[in-house]
Parts: sequence; C-alpha cells; structure tokens
Amino acid sequence: MSIRIGAHVDGADAVAQARAIGAEVAQVFLGDPQSWKVTGSGYPRGEEALRDDAADAGIALFVHAPYGINVASTNNRIRIPSRKLLQATLDGAAAIGARGVVVHGGHVTAKDSPETGFDNWRKAIDSLDTDVPVLIENTAGGDHAMARHLDRIEQLWTAVQASSNANVVGFTLDTCHAWAGGIDLATAVADIRAITGRIDLVHANDSRDDSGSGADRHAHFGEGRIPPDLLAGVVAAAGAPVVCETHGDMGPDIAWLRARI
Ligand SMILES: [Zn+2]
Repeated sequence: MSIRIGAHVDGADAVAQARAIGAEVAQVFLGDPQSWKVTGSGYPRGEEALRDDAADAGIALFVHAPYGINVASTNNRIRIPSRKLLQATLDGAAAIGARGVVVHGGHVTAKDSPETGFDNWRKAIDSLDTDVPVLIENTAGGDHAMARHLDRIEQLWTAVQASSNANVVGFTLDTCHAWAGGIDLATAVADIRAITGRIDLVHANDSRDDSGSGADRHAHFGEGRIPPDLLAGVVAAAGAPVVCETHGDMGPDIAWLRARI
C-alpha cells in the first residue's frame, strides 16, 4: 500500500510549496489560525484555482481549523462562536475541495463534568451543515481534554456517533500529541481503531518532550524523543494520508518518512 505523505504549507503558495518538497498532501489554514475569522486560503487566483491546481498536481488538500475552536466548552461565549467558526471553516474547505477539516478535541474546565463536554460535541456535530469530514484530532495536554487519553476519546466518540450527522465525523491521529499525551504509540493505531473504526489522517511529528509530558511541541523527525521505528510504525499501521507539521523545510521529513515505510 502506498501512503500519501505531505506537510502543512502556506495556503497562498500551497501547490508550489507542496511540489517543492515532494508532498502529495497539503494542509492549509483558511486565515490566521489564532483568529476567529475565516478569510480564505490566500491563494492569489482564488479558492477554485487552488482546488483545480491541487487536483492537477495530484495533491490532496486538508484544512486545519483555527486553534481557538472549543466546541466542548461549557462557556456560551466560547462554544457558540466555536460552532460558527467550525461551520465557516467547513464551508471554506468545501470551496477548495478539501478532503477534511482537522479540529482539536477541545476541553472543559476543572469544575465541569466531562460528560457536558462530550454532549456539547454531539450538539456541535448536530448543528453542522456540511459534506466535508470533521476530523477530530487528539491533543497532548491538560487534565480536562476531550481527546487526550483513550478513555476520553472513547467517550467522545460515543457521543458524536449519537449525532444525526455522525457520518461526517472522522479522526486525526497526531503522533506528537499521542506520545506527549501518554498514549502508547506501539498500540495507538489498534487502540484508536478499536474505538473509532477509522483513522482518516495522521499528523506525523516527532516530540521535543518525553512521553506523557503533556507538552505540545513538535520536532523534526530524528530530533525529538520518539524512537524512529515507533513513529514510522504508527504511520505504516494507520495507512492514512500523512501531514508533517514542523516549521521550516519539511522536505527532509517527508524523505525520512518515505525511507522508513
Ligand atoms: Zn497536529
């Protein structure tokens, strides 16, 4: 089986950047990831041109949603704008023909019941109007995260599967987040598949920090703490498209991974 490997790139130059580093998959933001606005990819000739150019180049596009989105939140002033921003991101992703939108699992606070957060996720999925898959990503840190530990991922998955829109929900496995979050990478793919039945996308990143540290700091392959064979093993076992998400030149990361799977 051939696994498509790529990277997170600048939307304004997505196709050229992907080609330059040998990426078959390109993930982009649709605006400033720290903001609460979807402004588009920034591709100079527009969203349809990005869609067409990527298709012509054989590049599969994915979108990463803004970081502030937390549809699990019990705070109305976070949860409601989060739903709107997720919907806007999905609409923007449809315009570029993206295969999915990656969104973090989010979290509740210490005084909240996690069950409320899972139910908020179900309501968020209920509220969506989209054909673009929502790829919930596991996160690295926090004691009240919805998608850090396997038991919580299982509860989250059960909740979203109760939605009338359950068919649009998928999963992104981030190797750095799983490692730092304390999931055993040797069994992560089997364990998550046993819960979700699917892994739609892999974020392949090494981790600057130790297993279980809870720190979300990506590293280039071979420069972090994850044993190379373990990392490559996750990618091979998942069999899903891969996005490398480190800063700087990711050409060597793509080559590193291709040489090992
Ligand atoms: Zn990631």
